Amino acid sequence: MRYISTRGGTPAVPFQEAVLTGLADDGGLIIPERIPDARDRMGAWSDLSYRDLACEILRLYVDDIPEADLKRLVEESYRDAFPEEVAPLATAGPVQILELFHGPTLAFKDVALQLLGHLFEYILTRSGGELNILAATSGDTGSAAIHGVRGRDRIRIFVMHPHGRVSPIQERQMTTVLDQNVHNLAVEGTFDDAQRILKAIAGDVAFKRAHHLGAVNSVNWARVLAQIVYYVYASLKLRRQTGAPQVRFSVPTGNFGDILAGWYAAQMGAPVGPLVLATNTNDILSRFFRTGVYERGEVTPTVSPSMDIQVASNFERYLYYRLGEDAEALRNLMEVFARDRRLSVDVAPGTAVDPLFEAGCADETETLATIAAWYERHGVVLDPHTAVGVAVATRIGSEQPTVCLATAHPAKFPDAVRRATGHGELAHHPSIDNLMELPARCTTVPATEEAVRAYMEETLAEARA
Ligand SMILES: *Cc1c(COP(=O)(O)O)cnc(C)c1O
Repeated sequence: MRYISTRGGTPAVPFQEAVLTGLADDGGLIIPERIPDARDRMGAWSDLSYRDLACEILRLYVDDIPEADLKRLVEESYRDAFPEEVAPLATAGPVQILELFHGPTLAFKDVALQLLGHLFEYILTRSGGELNILAATSGDTGSAAIHGVRGRDRIRIFVMHPHGRVSPIQERQMTTVLDQNVHNLAVEGTFDDAQRILKAIAGDVAFKRAHHLGAVNSVNWARVLAQIVYYVYASLKLRRQTGAPQVRFSVPTGNFGDILAGWYAAQMGAPVGPLVLATNTNDILSRFFRTGVYERGEVTPTVSPSMDIQVASNFERYLYYRLGEDAEALRNLMEVFARDRRLSVDVAPGTAVDPLFEAGCADETETLATIAAWYERHGVVLDPHTAVGVAVATRIGSEQPTVCLATAHPAKFPDAVRRATGHGELAHHPSIDNLMELPARCTTVPATEEAVRAYMEETLAEARA
């Protein structure tokens, strides 16, 4: 399988190169040349364990890593980091909850980033290369990325977070990782400052080449690929249990990376659909799937901060397919969006924007009321992101079995749980109870490109000495 850019301006590359590249050089997103059809395999896949299924799915997309090595990478990614199951299903009233928070940072991003860390190390060891990852985070991505690459050979990671503006738990999940290859930078500014610095440094091609700069954000194809597995796994399991032909999934959505994996699973022939796209009040995506218009506004902070986005970085992949895999049409549409902060697609009168998607948003009141209701009626404590998905799925309603993706453990967001139920102590987890006592390491830097560059250059020079 080879990989191409949504903007059509780069030659096709093999999987390993696609993983190291992150974003394509023409500014597009990397996608597989074709989507494998696995319709005929679903029966045989129904009884597989999570790890065996992961191997089967990866094999269809990866042909430049020998099968035995791929199997070992999957084993290593999903054994120690997930002492329980990777993706257990639990019944909670009218819905099934797919618990994707059993990894080291208690958020679904661990599922992809554990595999990505192992893949990076494997590829670099064989090529003799090295990788210096620079990332900006408002919380969840940074900690999952750090835990994905900590202690790995040939990789260093530099994570910028806005000083004093991430939750104490999120900060501690990053700064208490003391491995030599992990560098936390508290930038004296906002998340936007950190992101601006990242863009400036990553856009400097000479610096990027000289220092082997890499990225781990959700545009990396390997992250989408790793996430396809749990949609196939849960849909086959529930189909077997209920006899229903198709399984509906509700996905708390920010950058469109998670739900895009569900879309790929459906295209491959898994019994997945419809997909319920659930946003908080930052609803650019739920508006798109209701109206066909994608229009940028201002970010409003909410109790589900990992979904507080305006422009969804993975949406371009969806648009590419929507436009009939026409790279030129996509380039034109992205130019329109850059200019007008708005784009739209054709929707035939009286039809849905996309019949595979249902969409809705839940505001703060509804999100907190959902946490309270699920605790009182079903004895289940939801985190505020998961609660957005549960709220939208149950409000729209369906006869089909519905899986709500639980994207974080409630212990990461005790304030929201306290506000909703009056009991913050309901939300706890041993790995978080300990965090405040552990030693931490972090460097505070001014919010300038020069300061971050200087820190990186100094660190890299020391490492080479
Ligand atoms: C990142 C994140 C999301 C949003 O996922 P996307 O792939 O960006 O749509 C939802 N919930 C939690 C807890 C997250 O960390």
